[in-house]
Amino acid sequence: MASILIAEDEARIASFVEKGLTAAGFTTRVATTGPEALDLALTDEFDLLVLDIGLPGMDGFDVLAQLRGSGSTMPVIILTARAGGADTVAGLEGGADDYMAKPFRFDELLARVRLRMASGNGSGGRALAELAHNGLRLDVRTRRASVDGREVELSGREFALAEELVRHAGQVLSREQLLSRVWGYDFDPGSNVVDVYIRYLRGKLGAARIETVRGMGYRLV
Ligand code: CA
Repeated sequence: MASILIAEDEARIASFVEKGLTAAGFTTRVATTGPEALDLALTDEFDLLVLDIGLPGMDGFDVLAQLRGSGSTMPVIILTARAGGADTVAGLEGGADDYMAKPFRFDELLARVRLRMASGNGSGGRALAELAHNGLRLDVRTRRASVDGREVELSGREFALAEELVRHAGQVLSREQLLSRVWGYDFDPGSNVVDVYIRYLRGKLGAARIETVRGMGYRLV
């Protein structure tokens, strides 16, 4: 059974998340301070961490930095005060896999937890650790990417997008599919975030690798 660590100091929110995840079949444990969250996260007993940014003792950013600094690839979903804010960007750049802006609906969090579990990152996934296509290699455990043997630095979101493209290499993926699978919830369908990140990826992986299929979406060639 997959086990989830919930780092949240507000009892009401921790209980809401814990009840929902338990009902969905996960085992859970709550940490209410930053140091406690870090200690537990480093034990390797958990498959995923739901991490509030505002924690006493040590904030969520520091917990995340120390966790990643120790080499942990455990999937982390951060809880932020508002969507699209500086917290979100800092969290994703600091190695978080996804984020939830408070207040959130439980089903939205559950969808993201399942997405992260299914993506095979971390000890709980046990999926194939390395994906490769046409000289592009992605190690989903260490989040390292390389092109023709040359290492390429990808942000968390860029990596997730590249992973989705490689898992479906040769298939056309629509913007909506990429939005729901990589961003994990109902982003504004009019958002151009997918196009923006495709541009970033082309810059890093080589423009010719990702084909635009007019009116349909994108395809890894
Ligand atoms: Ca808090």
